[in-house]
Amino acid sequence: MNKLIDNLGREISYLRVSITDRCNYSCIYCKPEEQFEFIPHEEILRYEEIVEIIEEAVNLGVTKVRITGGEPLARKGVVDFIKKLKEIKKLEDISLTTNGFFLSEYAEKLKDAGLNRVNISLDSLQEEKYKRITRGGSLEKALKGIDSALKAGLLPIKINTVLIRGINDDEVEDFVRLTLGRPLNIRFIEFMLSGEELKDNYRDKFISVLEIKESLAEKYSFRPIDINSGNGPAKYYQIKGGQGTIGFITALSQHFCKTCNRIRLTSEGKLRPCLFSNIEIDIKRAIRNTKADDKIIRSKIIRNNIGEAISIKPEGHRLNEKFSNRDSFKMSKIGG
Ligand code: SAM
Repeated sequence: MNKLIDNLGREISYLRVSITDRCNYSCIYCKPEEQFEFIPHEEILRYEEIVEIIEEAVNLGVTKVRITGGEPLARKGVVDFIKKLKEIKKLEDISLTTNGFFLSEYAEKLKDAGLNRVNISLDSLQEEKYKRITRGGSLEKALKGIDSALKAGLLPIKINTVLIRGINDDEVEDFVRLTLGRPLNIRFIEFMLSGEELKDNYRDKFISVLEIKESLAEKYSFRPIDINSGNGPAKYYQIKGGQGTIGFITALSQHFCKTCNRIRLTSEGKLRPCLFSNIEIDIKRAIRNTKADDKIIRSKIIRNNIGEAISIKPEGHRLNEKFSNRDSFKMSKIGG
């Protein structure tokens, strides 16, 4: 079994793939309010190209793939794409991150196609607030999506909740209570101020999830639990008698760069070794410059590009040190 090891000895086994920069929502923490420039269609990687890249990545040692966006369920053909991924031998885990809007329609089909599990973004349990955060989204649809994912067995289901001070931090306990009656894994995520608009408008909205964890610990008795076989960034806890878990993702207050096991493939075909650094490898250009039937050369080029991306993976992000002048990035473009 091959392994992809970077210069710092980190094993890279996880590829996060954005299949579109389009989204039916414009969440306040993700997409800027100003006119958003979409990547032209011909610049978005085709499904066949993505499958080809994933096949090579798996040959090199990647075992887990997460499909994201934009909103991945907004791209046509996603079910057939998952079927193709399922055919890749040695790919052990296929997951997908979604806002849940289309999930009630897709959950069964995705499960049948070979998807293992889903992460669903959910930042409020209050209709009006949910609408405000997502700029027009439907809480009802998201909750239906969660029900459908449970029914289809897309487990474990992780619920991503970005905590925004003064906006949804009053709902922490409501989210925690969701874990009591159902096997849902709520993950509180730290708000990353990743673009100029966010820095200007939300500078005081960051909230450390460690602070949240401490205040919860005063009220609830919870024990650590492993739902991830130990290699994800969240640490999970279970409340006594609960069915689900609570996770804390401390991207900023306690970063996990030392154990980072992932690289990303953006929808426009760039390999990005670190979310927080603008260093990218243009794998799309490399493969589009090679004839489609030149299989051996294509395979070699893709492998070389992946190897190069791994070799330049930075040691860590420095978002904490330089909040104001770190490389700026738009999550909806790269894929969260
Ligand atoms: N549309 C899908 C969704 O809503 O889950 C997938 C894409 S979205 C970019 C993926 C994740 O990125 C979301 O769950 C959200 O938690 C995270 N995200 C986006 N912007 C973020 C920010 N500024 N800080 C923290 N997390 C962010």
